Amino acid sequence: MTIENTLSIIKPDATRRNLTGSINAKFEQAGLNIIAQKRLQLTKDMAQKFYEIHKDRPFFNDLVDFMISGPVVTQVLRGENAVKVNREVMGATNPKDAEKGTIRKEFAESIEANSVHGSDSLENAKCEISFFFAEIELIY
Ligand code: GDP
Repeated sequence: MTIENTLSIIKPDATRRNLTGSINAKFEQAGLNIIAQKRLQLTKDMAQKFYEIHKDRPFFNDLVDFMISGPVVTQVLRGENAVKVNREVMGATNPKDAEKGTIRKEFAESIEANSVHGSDSLENAKCEISFFFAEIELIY
């Protein structure tokens, strides 16, 4: 049994439509515990740093503008195989390809405005969690 922490971000398209609670219910139904959570307005500098890995992709500037277009909710999810379980609950990047019952299938507006971010590996999860949270903010 591997208990992991992973970073999740509820994106501006979802906070705008008041979907924070509906999305959190999906995480909790999947057995993930929300052990830290905060609502933030990202600055351009923060969004560019967070998505630095995508800086050479054609959609980078649009993605940064989207991520600062409204509040986000950053959160740490904890549970057995949390990184993988969260990616399953999120669904595919493009909501058209996402499985029934996933967050992106039910709530995403487009490949860009796809409602949630989730770390894609344990290594990235550690790095992304420390981007937004201090160790003492993770309560479990
Ligand atoms: P994720 O791990 O499933 O979030 O996907 P990626 O790491 O590949 O992409 C990061 C984010 O960039 C996605 O969640 C989308 O918000 C956005 N994105 C990915 N691909 C595209 C694209 O082709 N066009 C646009 N406009 N945005 C994209």
